Amino acid sequence: VSFDQLDGQIWFNGEFVPWREAKVHVLTHGLHYASSVFEGERAYGGRIFKLREHTDRLIASGRVLGFEIPYTADEIDAACNELLERQGFTDAYVRPVAWRGSESMGVSAQNNRINLAIAIWQWPSYFDPEQRMRGIRLDMAEYRRPDPRTAPSKAKASGLYMICTISKHAAEAKGYADALMLDWRGRVAEATGANVFFVQDGVIHTPDPDCFLDGITRRTVIELARRRGIEVRVRAIQPEEMEGFTECFLCGTAAEVTPVSEIGPYRFQPGTITRQLVEDYASEVQPQRMAAE
Ligand code: PMP
Repeated sequence: VSFDQLDGQIWFNGEFVPWREAKVHVLTHGLHYASSVFEGERAYGGRIFKLREHTDRLIASGRVLGFEIPYTADEIDAACNELLERQGFTDAYVRPVAWRGSESMGVSAQNNRINLAIAIWQWPSYFDPEQRMRGIRLDMAEYRRPDPRTAPSKAKASGLYMICTISKHAAEAKGYADALMLDWRGRVAEATGANVFFVQDGVIHTPDPDCFLDGITRRTVIELARRRGIEVRVRAIQPEEMEGFTECFLCGTAAEVTPVSEIGPYRFQPGTITRQLVEDYASEVQPQRMAAE
């Protein structure tokens, strides 16, 4: 069933509307000129994990594109929470999206309305669960993450996902689950929708997100690893270094912690550190039980 034909409600500019009626006009600025930003969040046990961090990033992404979302962080959080309840899910994926509307056409759209919508659906596993256990296979993407002087690379802006979709489609056409993107300098950057981590001799290595998304899951995983006493080195990583890494995993809100077995010519084995972090992340996202329970 097509995504626009699901049931339930969508929060749309302050109102709850029937899912199938949450429509926009074809002359929407966001569609033509990618003046759009979004978030991806997950609810576990009825609670949206790190909701405020995602909401703050959404607002910040809009500001990078030069617009102010016309709702406060408190209002956006409340809308997400109420929608989750109305949808009746405890475990779900949450997608807020903000965009410039259809009031005028052309590159300049100073007075177009800033719209905000939130949809929530059930999305159990981003990667095929069977592949996930063994570690997924990644192709090397042809496109690179852009120089921050070329694009607003820190924003979660829809326009930046054009090269992600092209790269992911090319990888899938060759039988891979995803693609690893290098950055504009040729360093290891990230996958098309998740950050990347490596392990060598008990130490974790992950690239410095200076020109790609600093994932909220990435920050969580770094904290979890350090809590376990595992050293985490955030640094520039050259693609040839992948030869020496023994474990590799991706992390992101949708992907959670997903082991990787292969990137282009390089091979990895999901090992003790990856498995530990898969488990630690799974417990971290669960709502804490009340002391009284
Ligand atoms: N990089 C990209 C390109 C992404 O789309 C995502 C998913 N939002 C991430 C990294 C991970 O970010 P987060 O952990 O905040 O979901």
